[in-house]
Amino acid sequence: MTSPVSSPLIGVFALQGDVREHLSALRAAGAVAVPVRRPSELAEVDGLVVPGGESTTMSRLSRVFDLLDPIRERIAGGLPVYGSCAGMIMLASTVLDGRPDQESFGGITMVVRRNAFGRQVDSFETDLAFAEVEGAPVHAVFIRAPWVESTGPDVEILARVSGGPADGRIVAVRQGNLLATSFHPELTGDLRVHELFVRMVRETATVPTNGGQTIEEAVR
Ligand code: GLN
Repeated sequence: MTSPVSSPLIGVFALQGDVREHLSALRAAGAVAVPVRRPSELAEVDGLVVPGGESTTMSRLSRVFDLLDPIRERIAGGLPVYGSCAGMIMLASTVLDGRPDQESFGGITMVVRRNAFGRQVDSFETDLAFAEVEGAPVHAVFIRAPWVESTGPDVEILARVSGGPADGRIVAVRQGNLLATSFHPELTGDLRVHELFVRMVRETATVPTNGGQTIEEAVR
């Protein structure tokens, strides 16, 4: 027998990026949140956030600290992961305008372009309609952000830019247990995207209600 975990344990990839902001947002959204720097820490978590930062550095450090393949394996095993900005790049199957040696964790079938919004609109803020988030539009902060150029058939598009030079560009997606946004909800105090992710983790993470026995062991 299993039941949903009420306060799931969610890790934040902590080798580089705005780790603290995601830890606070996750805690405020009802999770127990811990930094993840080692494979042994990764092994404990029910979900993972890959923060904003610099994807080329994340790629290099995750190789050096032996997290690249373990994260890929956990993604293949169904671990819920949310990537924001650089984290979105890390979840992309294909990265454009990256460094030639840049590697991603992958998991979402999409082509993502780094620093896609160009020099003039390097950083900007706008409001977005976001599928799966109820209520008012989400205020989105973009900082040297990527956008999604194309998606595979299993990818759900959750938000697009509306208006301006980037009108229609895809900036939030979901594929199964994987969620990605081009922008940084951890910087605005609006918890709804983190709450969505915590719900995704709760739906996946289950704890045994009978001390870890299978039902067959319990009735034997
Ligand atoms: N431009 C960064 C990258 O390529 C992402 C920026 C961010 O996460 N704010 O990784």
